[in-house]
Amino acid sequence: MSRFLSSRFANLVAYTPGEQPRDQQYIKLNTNESPYPPSPEVIERINADEVKRLNLYPDPAGKSLKEKLAKLYGVEKENIFLSNGSDDILNFAFMAYCDEKRGVAFPEISYGFYPVYADLYHVTHVKLPLREDFSIDYKDYCNINKMVVIANPNAPTGMEIGLFEIEEILKSNPNYVVLIDEAYVDFGGTSAVGLVGKYPNLMVSMTYSKSRSMAGARLGFAIASKEIIEDLEKIKFSTNPYNINRLTLVAGEAAVDSNTYYKENAKKIIATRETTVKALKNLGFLVLDSKANFIFARHDKISGGEFYAEIKKKGILVRHFEKEKIRDFVRVTIGTDGQMDIFLQKTAEILNER
Ligand SMILES: *Cc1c(COP(=O)(O)O)cnc(C)c1O
Repeated sequence: MSRFLSSRFANLVAYTPGEQPRDQQYIKLNTNESPYPPSPEVIERINADEVKRLNLYPDPAGKSLKEKLAKLYGVEKENIFLSNGSDDILNFAFMAYCDEKRGVAFPEISYGFYPVYADLYHVTHVKLPLREDFSIDYKDYCNINKMVVIANPNAPTGMEIGLFEIEEILKSNPNYVVLIDEAYVDFGGTSAVGLVGKYPNLMVSMTYSKSRSMAGARLGFAIASKEIIEDLEKIKFSTNPYNINRLTLVAGEAAVDSNTYYKENAKKIIATRETTVKALKNLGFLVLDSKANFIFARHDKISGGEFYAEIKKKGILVRHFEKEKIRDFVRVTIGTDGQMDIFLQKTAEILNER
């Protein structure tokens, strides 16, 4: 730290992303990317013609991508906000809707970025414990009179809450934004997007990073009332109007056009998840009920930290959180069938060595 840094940030602890090794020597099951490449249309449309236009700024309004997404989700383009990954949406929402007086509430065990944004903006935040079985008790969030942020399905548990519960939270906090982070919704979850017309305080965020195989392109979007979208646009145009680059906009449009491809991939991932869960249970693992492209599991014979280290030695990266209540678990991204076969084989070896 330099001596020039504002005291506002002196104690800030930044988010720690999962490992991103630059070589391909590991089977990478640690950051919930898709094991499948972008669709052929995406690959085709990021071509030399588009690269040649990189001297020109991109459309700051992202009009044609918004129109395509609006059609796909049955909303108006004024209900859509585009961002540089959905982390950007979270950033803007914390900036826009909370402060020292207007606090925020989110689950104690959830996406590790929420408390970082809360600290960044000096927002009073409450972390609400999950139930014993790692589910979210929606009643904890009713009448809480704070912004509410819930990942649904939740990370790293993979578990979901239903729309009834979300509606209760929305109804009982009419003066606060309820942000539902649907990064993993395409893997069998239930989306709250259909409620946007009914609840002006609902904001749903989604990403191209998981189900749409574009983590490297950085593209996310939010769906909400026109008024909420206006707020987000105001913040965007006050920070970085060109936050999505030309190539990503083109790729984003092509991805919407090839939606069926991604739906098929999501189906494959769900099927692989189910066979992996079964196999892990046969090996004696406790596996939480996942609606995401990852699973959260623990075994009595081995701690999460040890499992992470041992399977890394065998060439597979998974994610471990050195955090109270979940340190016995590991989070494993669902890869291809072939990758999961190797994962299961190495896992069985590790257990046999004990
Ligand atoms: C991966 C993830 C995101 C953000 O992903 P981006 O790559 O920034 O779009 C947001 N929320 C959760 C819960 C995630 O797991």
